[in-house]
Amino acid sequence: MDLLRELLHGEMNSSTVLLYPDEQAIKLAADALRRGKVVAFPTETVYGLGADAFNPAAVTAVFAAKKRPRFDPLIVHIADYAMLEAVAALQALGARTTLDKLIQNLWPGPLTVILPKQPSVPDIVTAGLSTVAVRVPSHPVAQKLIRLSTGAIAAPSANLFGRLSPTRAEHVVQSLNGAADYIIDDGKTGIGLESTVLDLCSCKPCILRPGGTAQEQIEALIGPVLRGYDPQTISSPGQLKNHYAPTKPLHTSSLEQIPYHTDAAYLFFDGKSRESWCAGKPAIAKTLVLSESGSLSEAAANLFVLLHELDAETVPVIYAQLAPEKGLGIAINDRLKRASTQA
Ligand code: AMP
Ligand code: MG
Repeated sequence: MDLLRELLHGEMNSSTVLLYPDEQAIKLAADALRRGKVVAFPTETVYGLGADAFNPAAVTAVFAAKKRPRFDPLIVHIADYAMLEAVAALQALGARTTLDKLIQNLWPGPLTVILPKQPSVPDIVTAGLSTVAVRVPSHPVAQKLIRLSTGAIAAPSANLFGRLSPTRAEHVVQSLNGAADYIIDDGKTGIGLESTVLDLCSCKPCILRPGGTAQEQIEALIGPVLRGYDPQTISSPGQLKNHYAPTKPLHTSSLEQIPYHTDAAYLFFDGKSRESWCAGKPAIAKTLVLSESGSLSEAAANLFVLLHELDAETVPVIYAQLAPEKGLGIAINDRLKRASTQA
């Protein structure tokens, strides 16, 4: 907490107000959203930088704060299913079975669905597309904030465009340097990876971005889905090859192919890999492990925290071991590859 206040006052000569999430503070932040202000808030995935989704000027301020290109649409966060029809034109979707199954089983949670847009959602939110990305976060602070606001918050991650996502309020302070009016601090986020983005407007459901909901979970409910996030076949405006990047060069590979340099920093997937790779090698500048035991959910929760930590080291380069390519490992590898210099 103290560190955060120091950062806030040391690095930012701004009017950003830091809040801790009690009733009164959340009410204050929700009122600010209603007045067109920009509020960084915790969700179970990463910290979001929110504006009232129905207020184009406020949403414009979010794009400006992040230096995010206008062609990259935002996710609209709602508190529950009841608000869905206010932002999505469900009658234009056709059959509802797929959507209903997903909503009943995976909301609230780290799943964003792309649906036909209601005219009430301003074009700036959707980058002029006829579709809108919608999610119901499960984080209690996000839930309360949305309910006390107009009921729909447009929010990308609370970091500069293209940079590492924030999983702690400190990351928000460091990355945005005063561009938010308020930051609600509720510690480290639980999942640590952005939501999975699933397009329900194409002829077959298609994952545009892997994330906190594994493809296997989705397919168990609705059958096989397509993957549109292959770096060769980018189909979502925000699916840029280089994204989520540290300021230092980062290289990813399998354990066997990681090169050895005494002055580099290393990020291993699990404790065993670090042990076997380091065996017999002289001292290395810095090594970190995503999950000692090799748990994919723990690795996901630590990913951005550890990348932030390595990025702050005085090393010229970071090498990261890829995770097993299954479950959340697919999203972890997607972020690592897009953070990497050779992506
Ligand atoms: P972010 O808010 O940075 O976590 O990114 C949200 C992701 O959802 C980006 O990759 C966007 O391009 C994607 N997205 C948002 N709205 C749409 C949409 N209407 N159609 C396709 N992708 C979208
Ligand atoms: Mg982002």
